[in-house]
Amino acid sequence: MKTLVITESDESDIRLGSLSAIAFAQSLPEAQLDTLCVADVFGENPTADSHAAVIAAAVNQKSYELVVAAATTYAKDVVARAAGLCGGSMASDVISHRFDGDQLLLDRPMFAGAVTATVTLSSIPRFITVRASAYNPVERSIVDNLNSLDTESLDVDYSDVPCAHWKSLASRASHRPDVTEAKIVVSGGRAFKSTEDFERLVGGLADGLGGAAGSSRALVDAGITPNDLQVGQTGKIVAPDIYIALGISGAVQHLAGMKNSKTIIAVNTDPDAPIFSVADFGLVGDVYEVVPQLIAELNG
Ligand SMILES: Cc1cc2nc3c(=O)[nH]c(=O)nc-3n(C[C@H](O)[C@H](O)[C@H](O)COP(=O)(O)OP(=O)(O)OC[C@H]3O[C@@H](n4cnc5c(N)ncnc54)[C@H](O)[C@@H]3O)c2cc1C
Repeated sequence: MKTLVITESDESDIRLGSLSAIAFAQSLPEAQLDTLCVADVFGENPTADSHAAVIAAAVNQKSYELVVAAATTYAKDVVARAAGLCGGSMASDVISHRFDGDQLLLDRPMFAGAVTATVTLSSIPRFITVRASAYNPVERSIVDNLNSLDTESLDVDYSDVPCAHWKSLASRASHRPDVTEAKIVVSGGRAFKSTEDFERLVGGLADGLGGAAGSSRALVDAGITPNDLQVGQTGKIVAPDIYIALGISGAVQHLAGMKNSKTIIAVNTDPDAPIFSVADFGLVGDVYEVVPQLIAELNG
């Protein structure tokens, strides 16, 4: 099966999620894999529509039957558009798969993880995004052995690209890893009253542990934390070794993004907070008292 894996890279290397997408693709029988990092093709016009146009051109002109990517914010924006341009079928956020004879069955959570749907894709080309935490990433060295698609030969038609034009990018620089890639995630919720408190306590603990800082949607909606820190149904899905939930109630939409973390630690003043029902370790306490003590202990 001719398969194209859409990869993403950070400043230095291919992202962990893309290594999981390759792992999924490699698990399929007779998959012939190429990779394509669209951001490498042209950095100057990075609208979702133009990226989708490049993918569609690659699929149509090189006859790929399957396109795989990690279920990231980027893929949500771009891969479904490409599927639409190609008239293909799509399953997003796949967490497991198996075969029934020749038929590929794909499991994907729905309704904030309340149910898991099993779907098959009938029309070709097929587009699949996989939840990175559900597939162990391949070794980075494997990427060197895969063919990176030569896009020079592609004839990309931008005439159908809608009228969103690239102007500029204002990005938030952070010294911390992304929540989807860190082994330890420290997340803060509505208990934190300001950006300064969040940075000092949640950020301070994350730094002390060498982890990422995450947030509930309550803080994003309040303008206290930026959108890219949000964990949950409409944020990022994480499954780190340790997830520390500080002053987060544990709404179902938040749990949908972190309940598969290996060890969950929660601090909350309310002993009946739902977060304690998924926590491996729980502490009933005030984050403004507990967290400074933890940071002081780490800085010891
Ligand atoms: C369609 C939809 C999608 C959504 N997607 C997401 C999503 O992706 N991610 C997400 O997080 N939410 C999401 N939500 C919102 C979600 O329903 C909750 O409103 C949100 O998660 C609550 O955030 P929170 O736990 O920080 O706040 P709250 O629910 O207000 O909880 C705050 C907690 O902090 C505790 N607390 C207060 N003060 C202290 C203190 N000093 N020390 C310790 N504990 C303290 C309280 O006891 C309470 O348990 C979504 C909602 C909808 C409808």
